[in-house]
Amino acid sequence: MTRRRAGRWQTVQVPDSVPVPEAPAAQAAHPRQSEFGFEVGTRLPGPDGSPGLGRTGTITTPHGTIQTPAFIAVGTKATVKAVLPESMAELGAQALLANAYHLYLQPGADILDEAGGLGRFMNWPGPTFTDSGGFQVMSLGSGFKKVIDMKGPDAPHQAGADDAVAPGKERLAHIDDDGVWFKSHLNGDRHRFTPEISMQVQHQIGADIMFAFDELTTLHNSRGYQEEALERTRLWAQRCVDEHFRLTDERAGKPYQALFGVIQGAQYEDLRRKACADLGAMPFDGYGIGGALEKENLGTIVGWCSEVLPEDRPRHLLGISEPDDIFVAIEAGADTFDCVSPTRVARNSAFYTAEGRLNLSGAKYRRDWGPLQDGCDCYTCANYSRAYIRHLYKASEMLSHTLISIHNERFVVRMVDDARRAIEDGTFYEFKAETLGRYYGSPAV
Ligand SMILES: [Zn+2]
Repeated sequence: MTRRRAGRWQTVQVPDSVPVPEAPAAQAAHPRQSEFGFEVGTRLPGPDGSPGLGRTGTITTPHGTIQTPAFIAVGTKATVKAVLPESMAELGAQALLANAYHLYLQPGADILDEAGGLGRFMNWPGPTFTDSGGFQVMSLGSGFKKVIDMKGPDAPHQAGADDAVAPGKERLAHIDDDGVWFKSHLNGDRHRFTPEISMQVQHQIGADIMFAFDELTTLHNSRGYQEEALERTRLWAQRCVDEHFRLTDERAGKPYQALFGVIQGAQYEDLRRKACADLGAMPFDGYGIGGALEKENLGTIVGWCSEVLPEDRPRHLLGISEPDDIFVAIEAGADTFDCVSPTRVARNSAFYTAEGRLNLSGAKYRRDWGPLQDGCDCYTCANYSRAYIRHLYKASEMLSHTLISIHNERFVVRMVDDARRAIEDGTFYEFKAETLGRYYGSPAV
């Protein structure tokens, strides 16, 4: 028997045959965890009226609240590329996510600590997130976006079987049960990350929401390796909690930083559910859903996690790409999600419109005096024409990145804000069908 949550773009299937594993006994919380909060608001039923997994909510941090579902803009190196923090606030961004790996290497987490934390360092007064660095250590550190490499070919259990290094690329990350050795993608220096070091680095960086250090696997890894890595991630999660509580006591004068556990398990339902039960019993403030996710399985996998994870804690989907992913994620129960695409595509002169993603490099925009999108309420569209921004881009002027990024970030923020209101109004599925129908219905120009 299969329960279906049908959507026009994706159907989330939840087979009843995989039982929810028995959760271990819940562990004691830290008293300061009450300084972080999450309250569920309106629940989103399934399209057929059956109970659903989506919801609205409010996350409370020492630097303000986040109304969920919320898009979390990415500012990898403590900056949303080419956009002032003031502009991010003006366009409605509620929170920013920076990268612990990058900030650890440059300028160094101690610098951010001395500055008073990430938000103060970059002049962003609102809530902030940092990821654990695990993803970057194991992907960037193993060949700068070209490969994802786990364990060495000399691993005793199955030599070479899980070697995911691309041909011609050097292996830069080595995992053992205690942590990871990796080489900096900046200068090749050798570094060590363990769960404890990741917690120390993230406490120094000082974001409101941090993620536990986990092992990233790929879809190429064997089932046996996925199990082994998942067990390592479980043990590391516990070590992260312990070190996080120790640091919370040690740094008593600082604002409380929430810690989210990260759910791995690749495409395997039983592994995902087990990870959710195991980490769900640990005193995390929330959860990140990470790891190897194929786009077509995104909603299904997030749905498995949402069913098992504690209902009263927020769920963050790590790293999504496109508008249809956002709707799938919301429907499957993700409260927040981060996405680097709005600024990344902007640097290639691509901009979002209600009718799909377009690219300003086309000659037809040379005398196009209209805004990037008619009716858009962003600063760029109120003041600048496609012709002007195209000129900037063609002349390699940096301002084109700024203007397009502001529009793209606003586009996604507004879409998620509208989705949140649609859940409250009971019109989510109509809004989803209309938005995605327009976005993907017409061919990209
Ligand atoms: Zn705009």
